[in-house]
Amino acid sequence: MQPLERISAKLFKFQQSLTLSLKHLVELRDAQNLPVYDFGLGETKGTLNPSIREAGERAFREGYTMYSDPAGMPKLRQAVLRWLGLENHYGIENVVISTGAKQSLFNIFLAVCNPADAVLFDAAPWVSYQPLAVAAYGFPVMVLPLGTQRELLKVTADDLKRNLDARPHVKLFLINNPCNPTAQLYSADEIEALLSICVEHKIYFVLDRLYWRILFDGRTYPEPRIDEETKPWVIQVDGLSKNFRRTGGLRIGWAVGPTDLTKAIINLQSHYTSGPATPTQEAALAAVDRTYVSDFVEELQTKRDLLHRQAAGMPHVKIWPTPGTFYSFWDVRDCFGKKTPDGVVISNSDDVANYLLRSEGVITASGMGFMQNGYLRLSFSVSEDQITDGMSAARRALSALKG
Ligand code: PLP
Repeated sequence: MQPLERISAKLFKFQQSLTLSLKHLVELRDAQNLPVYDFGLGETKGTLNPSIREAGERAFREGYTMYSDPAGMPKLRQAVLRWLGLENHYGIENVVISTGAKQSLFNIFLAVCNPADAVLFDAAPWVSYQPLAVAAYGFPVMVLPLGTQRELLKVTADDLKRNLDARPHVKLFLINNPCNPTAQLYSADEIEALLSICVEHKIYFVLDRLYWRILFDGRTYPEPRIDEETKPWVIQVDGLSKNFRRTGGLRIGWAVGPTDLTKAIINLQSHYTSGPATPTQEAALAAVDRTYVSDFVEELQTKRDLLHRQAAGMPHVKIWPTPGTFYSFWDVRDCFGKKTPDGVVISNSDDVANYLLRSEGVITASGMGFMQNGYLRLSFSVSEDQITDGMSAARRALSALKG
C-alpha cells in the first residue's frame, strides 16, 4: 500500500525563511573564524532598554506567568492604541496582541481567506507574506508596478485598480510602509489613493507598519485615514521587533482592525496560542507606554549615512535612497553576465550574494527571497566598524568581477 504523503502538499515546498537562515550562516562562519560582515538579517541590536528589561524581570519575580486574555492583556491593548495614536478611533476590542507581527499577519490571512481567495502584495513582498498566505489557503499575487513609481517598485492606485479589475476573488491588499526590503516610503497621498481603491472595491487594506518609527531626515509617518468609511476595511499590523533595540526575540506583535475581524482572530488565537507569553507582554507595555525616544532612529540615520558614504561609487551597483527602515537596497543587475575570479558567470542575485559571501564574507539578503531578482538588501543595523570594513570588502569583491 502506498503511504500517504508525510508532509501536506501545502507545506511540502516550504523552505526556511531566507532571513532566518542567514543567521545560521553567520554562526557557521563565526565558528570557523572566517571574516564575516553581516548585513543579512534585519534585526535590531544594541542594549535592551532597562525599563523593558525590568518590566519583564518584574513579571517573572512577581509571578505574572499565568494565562492572560487570549486577545492580549487589556492594558497593553489600550497602550497599543495610544502608541499608534488610534485611541479616539478604536477600543481594545479592536486590538489583538500576538506572538510577533508574523502571527498577526497569519491570523489575518486565516481569518479572511477562503481557499484560493487572492491576496495582493506589493512588488517586492517581504519573505514571509507568501508562505503565510499559502498556509492560510490564500492565493498570493504580486501587483506589478507599471506606473510612475515603478523605478522604486512602488505600486500606484492605477496598478492596484488594474489588478482588482482583472480578479474577482481578491480579499485584501497588503502594503508594508516603510518597506522591507526596498526601504521606500509611500507618501500620505499615495496611501490615501491606494486605500480609497480598496474601500471602493470592498477589500481589506492591510498596512504592515512594523518599521513606522524608523524614518529619517525629519519625515513623519503617513497615517492612513480612519473614519466611518474606511474603518471596516483597514487593518494595521505592528509590533515590538523593529522600533526598539534588541526586541526581536520578545515576539510581540499586534493587529488593529474592525471588530468582526478582531473577534474572529481572538476566537482563533484562543485555540492555538492562548495569546503570547505574559512576561513579554509586560515588557511590551513598558516599551510602548511611554514617549518614544528617538535616539535609536538617530543612530540608524548615522549608520545609513556612513554606509552610503562608504559605498559611494561601488562598482556594478546602484544604491537606492533610504528614507526609512534600516535597509539599503542595491540594484546589482549590472553584475549579471560578469565573471568572478574563479570563472563563475553571475546570472542572478543569488549568485551575487553567494559571491560576496564566499569571496569576502559579506552577507546580504538576495532579492530572490523578495521576488526581485536583480537586487540585494543590506541591513545597516550593525556596528559602524562592520559597515566600514564590510563596504571595503564588498568593493574588493565587486571590483574583481570581469567582463
Ligand atoms: N513584517 C515585516 C515587513 C517584517 O520585516 C517582519 C520581520 O522581519 C515581520 C513583519 C514580522 O515581524 P515579527 O518579528 O514581529 O514577527
